[in-house]
Amino acid sequence: MSEIVHFINGQFVSGNSGRRQDVFNPATGIADKSVILANEDDVNAAVEAASVAWPEWTKTPALRRARILDKFKNILWERLTQLAEVISSEHGKTLDDAIGEVTRGIEVVEFATAAPTLLKGEFSENVGSGVDSHMIRQSLGVCVGITPFNFPAMVPMWMFPVALATGNCFVLKPSERDPSASLLIAEWLREAGLPDGVFNVVQGDKMAVDSLVGHEDVKAISFVGSTAIANYIYTTGTAKGKRVQALGGAKNHMIIMPDADLEMATNALMGAAFGSAGERCMAVSVAVPVTEALADALVEKLKPKIEELKIGPALDPASEMGPLVTAQHLQKVTSFIDSGENEGADVVVDGRNFKQDKQGYENGFFIGGTLLDNVKENMSCYREEIFGPVLSVVRKNSYREALDLIHSHEYANGTAIFTRDGDAARNFMQDVEVGMVGVNVPIPVPMAFHSFGGWKSSIFGDHAMHGMEGVRFYTRIKTTTTRWPTGLRQNPEFKMPTLG
Ligand code: NAD
Repeated sequence: MSEIVHFINGQFVSGNSGRRQDVFNPATGIADKSVILANEDDVNAAVEAASVAWPEWTKTPALRRARILDKFKNILWERLTQLAEVISSEHGKTLDDAIGEVTRGIEVVEFATAAPTLLKGEFSENVGSGVDSHMIRQSLGVCVGITPFNFPAMVPMWMFPVALATGNCFVLKPSERDPSASLLIAEWLREAGLPDGVFNVVQGDKMAVDSLVGHEDVKAISFVGSTAIANYIYTTGTAKGKRVQALGGAKNHMIIMPDADLEMATNALMGAAFGSAGERCMAVSVAVPVTEALADALVEKLKPKIEELKIGPALDPASEMGPLVTAQHLQKVTSFIDSGENEGADVVVDGRNFKQDKQGYENGFFIGGTLLDNVKENMSCYREEIFGPVLSVVRKNSYREALDLIHSHEYANGTAIFTRDGDAARNFMQDVEVGMVGVNVPIPVPMAFHSFGGWKSSIFGDHAMHGMEGVRFYTRIKTTTTRWPTGLRQNPEFKMPTLG
């Protein structure tokens, strides 16, 4: 059984925690790897390596840092499929989907290669007589990324390319459920010329996370995961004086207006609800058709498409949807369908009946696509994030009712409206209290040069990820005011300096 280790100070190391956890191939249900779980000593070693590397790295010209990232980007393009295969084998998502994930990550690396431009400061001449003023952005020091299982390459890449480009050193703590992608990333950064200690990986669970969040040399923490843990990281980290951005869970609604192109909306829902087996923070998990007649037509169109979903192992090119990540998660998703049924929702398509009969995959963590109709606001399958291939239909009679529904939910990550009515779309864009909005776009994930982040319980902290928000998060500004002898006033002045 192969062992997944840490990457500290440019070396692959096992540490001495003696703790480890199985890593499963979700398609076979077999644990064919194990991951070492760090203790405090391992975390201290990684933070120490990053602290030692920082003074030189932050003084390295931004263009030189950018060139290393540019080489790393080229390596990623060359070995895209290799990284995607590793992701698929531990996460379960289809190879196409994993390639898409890595591609979205590479876009952030491309963005970060503009470091010299991104770090340009501001200069004001003659703010007073003979006085000039300028602002620069400086790095913070050691930054930490704690990431979820569902995007083992893309979510880390929302963070470290911008952190490194702006002169920080980084310690990544990936999900213990699919940890291998982090080591390929570390190896390829080293190959691209990144100095030892600038990027480190500690594998682990709560013990590693708590050691990182409590470490006094850690200046900033980027977290992505479930809301309860995001809140915990934000509260603990900020209480220790750290800068924290913590992105949490989601329940994304898609409104379908009566004038929408129904075929387009149905196909959009299929991809957005069942792609990656619903294990995406931007997955659409609630369809809100406006009017009963439209709801009937939508359910009728969705039903056969969901029944015909091709569910299989990630590496089978015919598969449209893979398994869930673990047996525990399969159990959790199943129990949400049970509770929806018990609370009165109509199970139009029941994924619990799905049996994977492909040889060798009978014990994989598979479930079929599920459609729940007549879901009500008070049901736990509506209120909570399921994070599986379960689409709930909540029927509403007007656009206003649909908008109120969205506003009543605690999560506000992404949302979409499908309509041909420019007036409704414009109102939605302006009024909806959600961070990422699509108009006839079901998964409106912002590009790398914009920023990713929801509202309400989907985020804790003031900064979204990547784009200029990422640059702001990973830098602090310094403003310097200079005066030269020609502008020197002769007499001491005791009042607050003003232009006069
Ligand atoms: P998770 O919260 O279980 O784990 C995230 C990270 O936190 C992992 O690295 C894990 O090791 C660590 N962790 C878990 N329990 C911990 C604890 N008790 N104390 C300290 N650290 C702990 O999330 P997950 O199941 O890996 O990922 C799915 C979740 O992530 C979903 O809720 C999804 O919506 C969310 N997510 C959100 C976004 C976003 O942008 N808002 C993006 C991707 C995923």
